[in-house]
Amino acid sequence: MQDKMVALVTGANKGIGMETVRRLTGAGYRVYLAARDIERGRAAAENVGACPIQLDVMSDDSVRHAAEVVAQKEGHLDVLVNNAGITGPLRDVHEYTGDDAAMVLLTNVVGYVRVIHAFLPLLERASDPRIVNVSSGLGSFALFHDSSRIESHAGTPLYGAAKSAINMLTARYAQLLPGIRINAADPGMTATDLSGGQGHSVEKGTDAIIAFALGGPDTPTGAYRNAAGSLPW
Ligand code: NAP
Repeated sequence: MQDKMVALVTGANKGIGMETVRRLTGAGYRVYLAARDIERGRAAAENVGACPIQLDVMSDDSVRHAAEVVAQKEGHLDVLVNNAGITGPLRDVHEYTGDDAAMVLLTNVVGYVRVIHAFLPLLERASDPRIVNVSSGLGSFALFHDSSRIESHAGTPLYGAAKSAINMLTARYAQLLPGIRINAADPGMTATDLSGGQGHSVEKGTDAIIAFALGGPDTPTGAYRNAAGSLPW
C-alpha cells in the first residue's frame, strides 16, 4: 500500500491550475505544482503548500526531467491534471497564420500527450490512477450546434479545435488504457487571466476537475463533464 497520495498539475502557477493544487493539497495529497517558470511556481507553491517543479509542456527535456524527479521522490503518481493551456492570439479570422495554429495545438494538445507519456509509467504504478484533461465547452461539436449556448458563438477557432482534439484524445486514451480513469473536465467560463477576468470563481471552475480526480469507485472513465454534469460531445 502506498502511503501518500501524489498528484501533479501542469500550468499551476495561477488560475484554475493553482486552485486545483490548493484543493488537492486540502484533500491530503502531496501535490507537485508544475510551472514553466520555476520562480512563479515557487511563489504559487508557497501559497498553497505544494512542491514546485519546473515543467514546460513544449519541452521534452523539461517534461522528462520533471517525471524523473517525481519517480525518484515518490515512485508513483496517483493523479495527473493536464491543465496548461493558452487561447493563442485573439484576432479577426482572416489574420490567423499557420504559426498561430501550431502554437495553440503544440501547447494545448501535443503538450498534454507529451506529459501523459512521460508520467504513464508512474501512473501505472498507482492503485487507482487518474488523468484529468482540462478541456472546454468550446471543444464540443454538440454545443457548437446549439445556438442557445454561449459556446456556439465564441470566435476562437484554433482554441476550439484544440479542445475538440483533447476530447477525442480523452475518449481514445480511456478506451486504450482501461487501468487509468481518463476524463475531460470543462471548467466553464472562469475568472482567470485567460478569460480576461470574466466568469465564475476558480472554485466553481475546478469542481469538475476535482470530482474526476477525487471521486469514489463510481468515477467513470472516458467522460466529459462540467460542474453541472455530463456534456454532449
Ligand atoms: P491562465 O490563468 O492563463 O493559466 C494558464 C496556465 O498555463 C499558466 O500557469 C501558464 O503559465 C500555463 N502555461 C501556458 N503555456 C505553458 C507551457 N508551455 N508550459 C507550461 N505551462 C504553460 O488560464 P486558466 O483559465 O487557469 O486555464 C487553465 C486551463 O483551463 C486551460 O487549459 C484552459 O484552456 C482551460 N479553460 C479555461 C477556461 C476559463 O474560462 N478560464 C474555460 C474553459 C477551459 P505562465 O503563467 O507561465 O504563462
